[in-house]
Amino acid sequence: MLKRMLGIVLAVVMCVSFAACGEKKSSEKVYRIATDTAFPPFEIPDEKGSGKLTGIDIDILAAIAEDQGFKYELDVLGFDAAVVALESNQADAVIAGMSITDKRKQSYDFSAPYYDSGVVMAVSSDNDTIKEYKDLAGKKVAAKRGTEGATFAEKLKEQYGFDITLFDDSPTMYMDVTSGNSVACFEDYPVMGYQIAKGSKLKMVTDMEQGSSYGFAVMKGKNTELLTMFDKGLENIKANGKYQEILDKYIKEK
Ligand code: GLN
Repeated sequence: MLKRMLGIVLAVVMCVSFAACGEKKSSEKVYRIATDTAFPPFEIPDEKGSGKLTGIDIDILAAIAEDQGFKYELDVLGFDAAVVALESNQADAVIAGMSITDKRKQSYDFSAPYYDSGVVMAVSSDNDTIKEYKDLAGKKVAAKRGTEGATFAEKLKEQYGFDITLFDDSPTMYMDVTSGNSVACFEDYPVMGYQIAKGSKLKMVTDMEQGSSYGFAVMKGKNTELLTMFDKGLENIKANGKYQEILDKYIKEK
């Protein structure tokens, strides 16, 4: 009799502790965070082609996750694909030098802005004929699918009469310009600046337009816990100097 009762008690205790274990597991959620394949200095692909990324976004996310104690896996998909993954619930969030815009705010919730940006037009460094938008008439222009650069090019297209070719990643878009296939591309200023500083055969010919800031995005009304942690962590790494340290690591001239 006593043995039997003990058995029941043991079973109950085991059930309770299993349940507790189960709960612990779910609080150790691994967030799926989607990003771009190449958007230096925010996403810098490993030169050896390992598929690993470094960069400002990558380091900021790692520092914030450490500060807030959450786990994540990084899905390196490309910009447009990252947004598609977010929308189809394949990703919990996007960090990819993603501009906070009024239009996007209708679909996504953004963190506090963490970097200021805008769009510029770039041409091949040896091109002296394309200097302003009107020089694009009848020509081919490259842009990256789903980006603010593409939206801006789309806006100018009717007025100035050019054709747009869309690319899924920035390096291929640049190549289309340096190879002479397209006469110009539209890209974010800090990314184009970094590219040129690194020796890319491109030059910027316009002032920055479409000024906006980068933010970490989740679907509207979803993953609010993650978004709150990101914002808190961002505040903390700004306060403790880590944020500036990351920027300096990638941007400061050495
Ligand atoms: N900032 C741009 C946008 O949000 C481009 C982002 C990117 O190419 N990764 O559209």
